[in-house]
Amino acid sequence: MLNAHATPDRLVLRAPRLLDGTGAGPVPDAALLLDGGRIAYAGPAAGLPDGSDRIEAVDFPRATLLPGLVDAHVHVVASGGPARAADVPRTEAERMLAAVVNARRQLEAGVTLVRDLGSPGAEAVLVGRAVESGAVPGPRVVASGPAVTMTGGHIPYLGRVTDGVEAMRAAVRANLALGARCIKVVATGGVLTPGVDPREPAYTQPELDALVDEAHRLGLTVAAHAIGEGGVVAALRAGVDSIEHGMFLDQRAVDLFLDTGARLSATFLAPHGILAGPSVPGWIKDRARPAAEAQARSFRAAVSAGVHAVAGTDAGTPDNPHGGIAREVAFMAEAGLDVLLAVKAATGEAADLLGVPDRGVLRQDAAADVLVADGDVAADLGALQRPLAVYQDGRRVV
Ligand SMILES: [Zn+2]
Repeated sequence: MLNAHATPDRLVLRAPRLLDGTGAGPVPDAALLLDGGRIAYAGPAAGLPDGSDRIEAVDFPRATLLPGLVDAHVHVVASGGPARAADVPRTEAERMLAAVVNARRQLEAGVTLVRDLGSPGAEAVLVGRAVESGAVPGPRVVASGPAVTMTGGHIPYLGRVTDGVEAMRAAVRANLALGARCIKVVATGGVLTPGVDPREPAYTQPELDALVDEAHRLGLTVAAHAIGEGGVVAALRAGVDSIEHGMFLDQRAVDLFLDTGARLSATFLAPHGILAGPSVPGWIKDRARPAAEAQARSFRAAVSAGVHAVAGTDAGTPDNPHGGIAREVAFMAEAGLDVLLAVKAATGEAADLLGVPDRGVLRQDAAADVLVADGDVAADLGALQRPLAVYQDGRRVV
């Protein structure tokens, strides 16, 4: 699959249309000039710089050029098979192997950047470093390290169990030391873990405030797992940068999203997989059902009020293998998000949230991460499920 050495340093890509990842409409008869891993030109083919006709060009006569996709919520250690409630291998060696395999699956689906929101240790950090060094194929990884979760809270098997205000600061620092570039905090119960109800808050307001304050002080963004309104509101009041799931949103929550600029990462695929998974235990399905029913309604209310959505699959949850980002984008559009904003949610909006604003967009000087999708994406989101080619830092990797 890797034929990175075959790509010349300078290359022109042409297609009948281009989406730049900012939410702007398609550019017709488009071209990209890639030069040394960066984008030297993006726009109408007629505007290519002088001399571009002497550069090797690849024509994709039916395709859309768009930024490499961004999945803002994954778990690389978990493979998302149908057979288990939580498909996380027991040993560190198996988890590393799973992370390498899952990273490649993401890349093959056109994903060039992911945010990993919970691994037992440094697995996601390490696979990200291996990708950056060129040792393994995969997307760039912004990793949280272990999720910060309370005693009796959700996903202790992917987490760092932490209780008390001062301990929250220590947990942030411990994750920083592991190489984390963001922090995941579990602000409510979760569907997959017995104990706290998903609708109920987990941490106290002072605990959340301390965690967010410490993370921001150290330059790390914060993602909060939050399903019920109470936990969503507490996390937003603390100043988190994104809410993960956010299935029950009331007007207070929507107003706080707008006031703080936090993004909503709905992860439609997670409850979808749980409800569809043939071997998921009944008690988990019973918990997922009301949350899934509330989700589309909450999402529609949020985005119609102007809340910014990002695409996250929660890959690794039951029946939710890596590489499902195109389906997540389709779910968001079905739930009322404008198609161009749904594409933005999986490109420019998510890259900005991840602190990598020079990825996820096709513009001059941005990183040359490009997905060539087979079809007219703005007219048919299904085209995202048909990657013809993927370029990463200017090199063809798929
Ligand atoms: Zn997750």
